[in-house]
Amino acid sequence: MYDKEKLYNETVELNEKLLTYQKSYYVDAKPLVTDREYDRLFDRLQQIEGSYPYLCFPTSPTHRVGSDLSSDFPEFKHTIPVLSLDKAYDTSLINSWIEKCETKEDKELSFVLEQKIDGISIVLYYEKGELVRGVTRGNGAVGNDVTNNVKTIFSIPLKLTKPIDIAVRGEIYLPKAEFEKINETLEETFANPRNLCAGTIRRKKSSESAKIPLNIFVYEGFWPGDNNPFSTHLEILAELKTLGFRINPTFGVFCNSLKEAEERLNKVGLTGIVGSYSDLSKQVEIQTNNRSSLAYEIDGLVMKVNELKVREKLGYTVHHPRWAIAYKFESPQAESIIESIDEQVGRTGRVTPVARIKAVSIGGSTVKNVTLHNQAYIDELELAIGDSVEVSKRGDVIPAVENVVEKNEVGNTTYRLPLNCPVCDTELIQKGAHTFCPNPYCPSQVLGRLEFFVGKSQMDITSLGPKTVKYLVDTKMVSDVQDLYTADIKSLVGQPGFGDKKVNTIIKGLEESKRSPFSRVLVSLGIPEVGKKIVDTLIENGLSSMEKIFDVVEKEDYELLEKIPLIARKTSENIFMSLKNPVMIKRIADLKEAGLAMVQENDEEEVFEQTFVDEVWCVTGSFENYNPRIKALEEIEKRGGRTVTSITGKTTHLLLGNGGGSKVAKAKKLGIKIVKEPEFIEKLNETSKNDTEVLTNIVEKKNTDKKIVEILKKDDNSVQGELF
Ligand code: NAD
Repeated sequence: MYDKEKLYNETVELNEKLLTYQKSYYVDAKPLVTDREYDRLFDRLQQIEGSYPYLCFPTSPTHRVGSDLSSDFPEFKHTIPVLSLDKAYDTSLINSWIEKCETKEDKELSFVLEQKIDGISIVLYYEKGELVRGVTRGNGAVGNDVTNNVKTIFSIPLKLTKPIDIAVRGEIYLPKAEFEKINETLEETFANPRNLCAGTIRRKKSSESAKIPLNIFVYEGFWPGDNNPFSTHLEILAELKTLGFRINPTFGVFCNSLKEAEERLNKVGLTGIVGSYSDLSKQVEIQTNNRSSLAYEIDGLVMKVNELKVREKLGYTVHHPRWAIAYKFESPQAESIIESIDEQVGRTGRVTPVARIKAVSIGGSTVKNVTLHNQAYIDELELAIGDSVEVSKRGDVIPAVENVVEKNEVGNTTYRLPLNCPVCDTELIQKGAHTFCPNPYCPSQVLGRLEFFVGKSQMDITSLGPKTVKYLVDTKMVSDVQDLYTADIKSLVGQPGFGDKKVNTIIKGLEESKRSPFSRVLVSLGIPEVGKKIVDTLIENGLSSMEKIFDVVEKEDYELLEKIPLIARKTSENIFMSLKNPVMIKRIADLKEAGLAMVQENDEEEVFEQTFVDEVWCVTGSFENYNPRIKALEEIEKRGGRTVTSITGKTTHLLLGNGGGSKVAKAKKLGIKIVKEPEFIEKLNETSKNDTEVLTNIVEKKNTDKKIVEILKKDDNSVQGELF
């Protein structure tokens, strides 16, 4: 016998919790719990409802897909089924699902395996080949019309190659590399690319959405009435490609035999993975292991019946189609204890509480430190020292305390941040959700500022490693970045760890840094949200010297700045606030005095033949001709190549200088081409032969890109026609 009242209360609680979590996840893009926890509660509710149908309330979250409806946008009633997916966390469940589909149909079927893109679900409606509406999934029946924002995504065709009526389902996503670049410039950072993508698609101004380079993969097409001329999913994918859509090339076809799968794929003229049913679990394993090397996030794989007639027979539940199932990746998680909490003071003075936890292994690495972000985050978790907590790796990377599993027994109450800076004892101040130390000379801030200034993506002074920088700060030889150029570095000789050779390398590194371009100097100042991309845009748009920038700052010319692509109001405010600060003004004057570039040379952009396109280079070691090393990176990027800081399966070349360490072994293991400096120089010389036609095309493309950005910035539907 079960306790009726207890079960009823549990069901009510599950309903309430799931609805709250859905709203935070879909509408606010701020998940309150991990996907695993959400799915656990969802499964439990489904289980109760299955056993006791009278506890299945009409408003139960199991009856509909999670809703992302918001009152900020007009609603649109979908004309196609826009449902969720059934889920499995175990490959054996996929195999039994295949068997179930086949038994129902009583014949051998073919299946398509696709990546489950972790982005935002969208339905694109076309009439006579023209995009008329982009609508979010909403609650499955009604979605939000976000057409203007959708139109800013370049990979979504506004006009198809055929004048047909069609509805297309797809997933809008933000590539990981773009997310990392953009997120670090934001005041309020996002936990993962999906959340930033969701926020972007819901921006009220489409000019703001246009600033984030979203992308799309489409995966289903629906023709009105009985007009669907195709009999398989593969044919639909091929047609979507012909119509001008971007389909994900990483998909697989699985049939009774490998030969049959190959034939099916050849017939539609697509390329993909092929296999028999017995290859399926291996393929799932391969894709699961490869997911971190992808340029975008996936949260699972989707298996779909290929034959459309069979799909029709299998039909739908209220929540998902019966002809598809998602295999979801587990997000790694473990239990630990909060041993202590302390604060880190960053270069901007922001104070971040960090939990020191009992070491646990999560997803293959040991986790001991977990950021707690700010006081509000601690309050929400009601977190105290000694509590047992559940720790996850969100997006498989960032450790996070998810919830308290058991309160401590010694009576510790919710942790409170100190009132004074733990490093310099200055009284802390509150700005928005965060706490700051207002003393610009707080040793922790100075250290953070110096580490940033000499860092690889800034001045790249490799001879000034973290230990040396700390020594200089601890011994009070430097109290701000400009002191590096006036400090008596020679006097370090003879001090512990500093020999003649080392000191000379430091001096040489500092001297060479004076030849860095203005763009680098500007990034190195550490103005919030002003990274390489923003600086390049400022310079490209005429703000090519400190003097010109100061002129805009003096006039507080928001209008001028915001005409520039990528510059949002927040960025302008940060530029104005930072460059009006007397400490910053003095820093810049001193750096100028020391001989650092305050004007960008070569205003006329040199154009190079793009022969490094599709190449991904990792650079390690030191070089004779590329010092600082960033110069080699710039040569690669100028020719269309991509540069990365660590080696992954996507890396194509390793540029190896003197003293390149562990990366060589990894490159050899992955069969990545290793290039040394002389060969690199040869490759660069080959490519700088001026092929007039190629160069003219590049210049034209750049001008067109600029025009497109300008048009999108007008934030007006009517101008979309100008684009195509
Ligand atoms: P889902 O996101 O897991 O799966 C359905 C979606 O997958 C579709 O709507 C589609 O947009 C997307 N998709 C991506 N690639 C696809 C492809 N190739 N083919 C078909 N579809 C593809 O389902 P859901 O109902 O949106 O969300 C449920 C999941 O979201 C839960 O399982 C949970 O993990 C997570 N969630 C978490 C919270 C939380 O608070 N953490 C709250 C709600 C939901």
